[in-house]
Amino acid sequence: MPEPVSPRPPLPRREALARREFLARTGTAALGMAFLPSGIWARPSFDLVIRGGMVMGGTGGPPFRADLGIVGDTIAALGDIDPAQGSRVLDVAGLMVSPGFIDIHSHSDGSILRYPTADSRVMQGVTTEITGNCGGSAAPRGPEETGADPEIAAPPADAIGVSETRPVWSDVASYFRVLEEEGISVNHALLLGQGTLREIVAGSQDRPLTPGEMAAVLRMVEEGMDQGAVGISTGLEYVPGRFTPTEEIVAMARAVARRGGLYATHIRNEESMLLEAVDEAIRIGRETGARVQIAHLKAAGMPNWGKQVAALDLIVGARTAGVDVLADAYPYTAYSTGLTIFMPAWAMAGGWEALARRLDDPGQRARIRAELLQRVLLDPGAFHLIVISSVRTDENRPVVGLNLEEIAEVRGEEPVDALLRLLMEEGGSVSFIGHGMSPENVEVVLAHPLVMIGSDGSSMAPPTEAARSRPHPRSYGTFPRVLGHYTRERQLFDLPTAVRKMTSMPADQVGIRDRGRVARGMKADLVVFDAATVRDEATFDDPHRFPIGILHVLVNGAPVVEGGIHTGRRPGRVV
Ligand SMILES: [Zn+2]
Repeated sequence: MPEPVSPRPPLPRREALARREFLARTGTAALGMAFLPSGIWARPSFDLVIRGGMVMGGTGGPPFRADLGIVGDTIAALGDIDPAQGSRVLDVAGLMVSPGFIDIHSHSDGSILRYPTADSRVMQGVTTEITGNCGGSAAPRGPEETGADPEIAAPPADAIGVSETRPVWSDVASYFRVLEEEGISVNHALLLGQGTLREIVAGSQDRPLTPGEMAAVLRMVEEGMDQGAVGISTGLEYVPGRFTPTEEIVAMARAVARRGGLYATHIRNEESMLLEAVDEAIRIGRETGARVQIAHLKAAGMPNWGKQVAALDLIVGARTAGVDVLADAYPYTAYSTGLTIFMPAWAMAGGWEALARRLDDPGQRARIRAELLQRVLLDPGAFHLIVISSVRTDENRPVVGLNLEEIAEVRGEEPVDALLRLLMEEGGSVSFIGHGMSPENVEVVLAHPLVMIGSDGSSMAPPTEAARSRPHPRSYGTFPRVLGHYTRERQLFDLPTAVRKMTSMPADQVGIRDRGRVARGMKADLVVFDAATVRDEATFDDPHRFPIGILHVLVNGAPVVEGGIHTGRRPGRVV
């Protein structure tokens, strides 16, 4: 498991020096070609030489001065390289050269085909994203749902709509084909959403699966893993994940563990029942042997802030006892999700239509309203901490960016009624930002050696349409915020540690062997950044802003960002 490893030595130094001597002798270096003794004109050895930077290996060791030689999609050499050996030379003196950032917690399922250039991701240095988190994945799809919204099972935090004319796919293999045919700027790995699979066999029913349904789900897990999925995810606060008994997840995680996959979980509760929820995740790891990833670890809601350290202690204890569990976190004191998360489970049985019918009944509405009030007091703590980030209808567009107390005041209603009214008017789909975490806890979590960085964000771009929503800034700013604010300014950890939490640590946890490190033979996913200036620019009020200090980004050897500008290239692959 991801233990700190010393950085790999620059391998081809001797070869590079020998070649340099030869070039100097023959005097052809300036031409970029070498006249070999055999009489054949040799082409430059590398498609690209990245010259003069400080290399961060990705495993936590100190940066070292080295040039990189890229051939095709691979790092072919690391050491002193004569620039004449490169068809192209990128001079990065004074800058850091790091493995591309691997976002282990992404929700780009719904948006990567709408924004295939993944601007919000690559501009912050993300070169690979793991999607299908929180129980909802774009694939597989049930036979009757081609064209359906894959995000229904787990409303994504930053939903800004999905493509109206999305290409059709059914299973994981056909989804991957669509991604590669369309062309995307980032590499893509997929977790199978447990909510998605359960929805296919049993809809939004609040009951255990029948043996037949369970067998069908397990078949989908095995087929999806065989087609290249890297594991499964749960979203146990969403519909239908919240209706799932632990035993069903254990059976699925067992199938995943047999294939060396990952179990990633948005646990059952991140507030008053945080510790019980962490325990459930650990139990699943213990009983199945699967690697466990606790997603966006947090203690939400002021009354629960005291549980944060205890939750980390549970994870440490589990690892000591041999359970392979880690966690990820994003560097913000607010979370973002859909308003239905506050709804009592019984009210959500049968899905949104069933909830809408219950709200029409005065008796049931009163009960839902009372439980909702209770829940908001526990998390995030008050209605003014709930800020609407996106809606579907034009009529409600003006409330985007306002909190529920402000919205209620305009209409002369109680905040809880404003929440219910908005949900009804928007067909259950309202995203919000919940200002629910303490700054101290966010630092404790980020700094913990068992926690890596994951954005919980998604691919988007700042054209007019996206600007109509006010999503959580994490989609644009997560990784530069860790490098700038939390590393350089707050000094939570040193730069190599920060980079390790974004590169080799998630690569190892997902099981990606050829990315996440700078070494000869690894894929050339690289980020060149300025450690002195890198910082996030996206804010809660103005989220569609790219960071500064991320200068060059290579995906599979191809430049996707050059000089801080997106090149439009789409070299991303399914990994
Ligand atoms: Zn989640």
